[in-house]
Amino acid sequence: MLLTIRTTHAPATDLGYLLGKNPARSQRFDLGFGTAHVFYPEATEEACTAALLLDVDPVGLVRGRGNGDGGTLDQYVNDRPYAASSFLSVALSRVLRSAMSGVSRDRPELAATAIPLEARITVVPVRGGAEVLRRLFEPLGYVVDAEAHPLDPAHPEWGDSRYLTVTLRAETRLAALLTHLYVLIPVLDGAKHYFVGDEEVEKLLRHGEGWLAAHPERTMIASRYLKRRRSLVDQALARLVEPEPDAADEGAAPDEPTLAAVRDAEEGALEARISLHQQRLETVMQALRESGAARVLDLGCGEGKLLRMLLAEPRFTEIVGMDVSHRVLEVAADRLKLDRQPPRVRDRVRLIHGALTYRDGRLAGYDAAAVVEVIEHLDAPRLAAFERVLWEYARPETIVLTTPNAEYNVRWPTLPAGRFRHRDHRFEWTRAEFAEWAEGVCARFGYIVRLLPVGPVDEEVGAPTQMAVFTRTDSAMVDVSLESGDG
Ligand code: SAH
Repeated sequence: MLLTIRTTHAPATDLGYLLGKNPARSQRFDLGFGTAHVFYPEATEEACTAALLLDVDPVGLVRGRGNGDGGTLDQYVNDRPYAASSFLSVALSRVLRSAMSGVSRDRPELAATAIPLEARITVVPVRGGAEVLRRLFEPLGYVVDAEAHPLDPAHPEWGDSRYLTVTLRAETRLAALLTHLYVLIPVLDGAKHYFVGDEEVEKLLRHGEGWLAAHPERTMIASRYLKRRRSLVDQALARLVEPEPDAADEGAAPDEPTLAAVRDAEEGALEARISLHQQRLETVMQALRESGAARVLDLGCGEGKLLRMLLAEPRFTEIVGMDVSHRVLEVAADRLKLDRQPPRVRDRVRLIHGALTYRDGRLAGYDAAAVVEVIEHLDAPRLAAFERVLWEYARPETIVLTTPNAEYNVRWPTLPAGRFRHRDHRFEWTRAEFAEWAEGVCARFGYIVRLLPVGPVDEEVGAPTQMAVFTRTDSAMVDVSLESGDG
């Protein structure tokens, strides 16, 4: 089967940088179940087309399985070499992995930019035909074209086959297009060539971040993606938190762990002179101690500095670090040296992979949550989903949250005016904006909040970091003096 991706964004040959595949060279990848070839039938300044030809070997797939008896002929003779299926998704994730996660070494800005793109798949079986195809791709902003093929041109009365040649056009980021194809191709035919387990739920939520929750066909997508395994489908749907109706989902970009590492280093350098980071973590620790919490979440834990501080104090009996990035969790596990800790230390801490914009049963029932320098990494339209995940569903008694104070940015000598402190920040708030947001959260979910500066306080612009300590109003930890403090 064949997938082509075409752009007319000038210079069109930049597509080669985005895909990480040189237009002048054709390449071949052995994938075990077959071979993928990447080549460019067209590569000019005006238009460039990359082709991924996937040659699945159905005989090779069966060989060595040891089920010689009872096998049927269709193991050997089937549509796999010709039709797009979950094999194509696997090929995309292996051959175009970094392009799919939005990473481009040579053209990072272009990778984050919507450009005119056209994808064509020849051919794909679609259960439900062109109508289902449209229902899946049109809500994501694609202009969809489906070409039907008669079962036999000599017998038009037999009707069309279930195979379509599909063309999708949109002005979008290449990573978004590849991710949509990755998730939705197996959904089109509703079949997967491999066993579907819990891992697939995580995969669906990870690749669906920013678009699946608001998709009108999310139920069909989850159901077909997870091969109709009821418990998995329920789990996935429960964790998809719908954004508020007025919160448009446009422009949501998935997190990019590799770039994030570079960006973290930049932010680190910027703040180094006063070791703001350390000061911030100590302030958060103090707030957690004062809350009386024993079971604590560190949401968006990153490389685990706060986890290490929590682990050093026996009063914190259960510590859970969660992050959306597998890579930073690996670093955290490494830094905590968990494999070298005695069991009584090791057993107090757990690292889990998850996204804060999805409802997650694993977060319920804790005393406190720390969310340190994380919300500014969330797309503003996803904030409403995050609020519900933490304040409505997880609902710890105490939430300690920090974020940069945008007003302070004029005091950073190396930061150009109008720039954020970190390239991955989606917004930075002034003290008034933070206060307004925090008070809105309290009103919506039944919490009270204290706002505190972190770091040296400048008379005019305040402190570099702002911290909010939320306390659930129905919790024993709220004392009356606090409640009436400002009012
Ligand atoms: N709290 C840490 C890390 C802050 S950097 C510290 O203070 O050092 C922000 C972290 O949030 C990153 O590790 C990033 O991977 C994580 N993150 C970003 N978006 C997220 C999301 N939607 N869900 C969970 N974690 C997220």
